[in-house]
Amino acid sequence: MIIQQWFVWALVVSAIGMTGTNGVMAQSLFDMADDITTVRIESHGQNFSPRQSITPGAAPRHTSDFDLTVVWQPGDLKAREEWVLRTHYPVSTELSYSMTYHQAAGVTEGQDSLAPGSDARPMGGRRIGANLKTLWLTNPLILAAHAESISAPESIGVEGSRERVTFVAFDTNWSMVFDSSNGLPLELATTEADQHQGEIEHRVTFQDWREVSGVPFPYRVEQFLEDKLLRREVRSAIMVNPEISAGLLELPDSLQDTDQSLRQQGWSMSHFSQARAGLGIPQDYFETHSISFHEVGQDLYQVRGSEGDNNLLVVGPDGLAIVDAPWFDQRSEEVLGALQERWPELPLKYVILMHHHIDHSGGFRAYVRAGATLVTSQGSTAFFANALAQAGHEPTATIAVGQSAQLDGIGRRIEVYDIANSHADATLIAYVPDEKLAFATDLFSPGRPRQTGPWVSELLESVRFHGIDVEQFVGGHGVGAGYPDSE
Ligand SMILES: [Zn+2]
Repeated sequence: MIIQQWFVWALVVSAIGMTGTNGVMAQSLFDMADDITTVRIESHGQNFSPRQSITPGAAPRHTSDFDLTVVWQPGDLKAREEWVLRTHYPVSTELSYSMTYHQAAGVTEGQDSLAPGSDARPMGGRRIGANLKTLWLTNPLILAAHAESISAPESIGVEGSRERVTFVAFDTNWSMVFDSSNGLPLELATTEADQHQGEIEHRVTFQDWREVSGVPFPYRVEQFLEDKLLRREVRSAIMVNPEISAGLLELPDSLQDTDQSLRQQGWSMSHFSQARAGLGIPQDYFETHSISFHEVGQDLYQVRGSEGDNNLLVVGPDGLAIVDAPWFDQRSEEVLGALQERWPELPLKYVILMHHHIDHSGGFRAYVRAGATLVTSQGSTAFFANALAQAGHEPTATIAVGQSAQLDGIGRRIEVYDIANSHADATLIAYVPDEKLAFATDLFSPGRPRQTGPWVSELLESVRFHGIDVEQFVGGHGVGAGYPDSE
């Protein structure tokens, strides 16, 4: 049994007069991991998306199951991943694909996305950064073997049952907790960027350590975003320094390097890329430029960005209201810049959020900073207040909407209604009565050939309940205004 072996080794280390702390043993394990040139890991598991929970702040959405084979050369920063991804949310499908990548470039083959297309294509920098980070995060001894310097172990836990070291590797700070009895890592954590909270802990736990060619590996690995599950992985076979076919990890000479800033972004928020890929909606590139305004009514605009998610802008005589805040503060900053240019005399009075999912709320802090009153469903008020507090913001002016609310601050009426549906709890729509136009997010996406799930009929049923006269919907996704064909 491996634990006993390491324990015996610890006694030997003590006996020969080294420091006698178990940190020495951990250090020896790191040195062993340094001898790995290639590792091949077969695993299966489940993906979760904390930012697509049904209820704000509640259990993450289980998005997919997978079979995965990784071949990795840590010293050369080269890897290949072969995936079979069975998605359950937002739609059920099976995707099969591979990614071969080095630090600066990579290639995807097969179908990795709900969107059709399976030709070989370059990987975006965001995905490469996130994938490399995930390999380090889930293989802690190999990571520690590449550390620049490791702190002296700090005793924690009951009677020194655990020790913690911190170290820097790849310009990133890591904290590792290991079991004092055998020197094996229990937990590895690092801080990542998060749209809602500013900073967040990406934490990985390790169990079921087994020895492979003299090196211990964890066979059960769980990744968490704070306390929310991101991925569960069970390893079924690991090989150290296996023969691999020539060229397996090589890339075409013609492949160009990816954008380094995107790679850095993927690295600094690997939890985000990982969760998106697990939905079958990978975001390799993800640019937030090209904000444009499309008139969908009198002084009403759908605000589009290159990533395909929208806001609604309502222009009134006394001010502006923005509905939804897709993805990132950077995108919101661009919208704010455009508003300032086009309507310099009109203040932004409201940011109205339809629900808490990251693709529609990740940029909300920029609008709050710009002075907008935050309008959310009662059921998500605490979630957003907590996110602001975590990000170090002062509490902000907030309107918590129960069944409905009227907003008159821009000199033009906007009504907000609670919509019962199975996509997300605490969902609102925003309705502009003088144009009989409603903005709905995810429940109906105008211009799309297929609508998802029962969400359209749930939306229309709630609209009938409230007795509002909607002639057209504009969507958080989709293009332009429209009305569902059939109920
Ligand atoms: Zn959603």
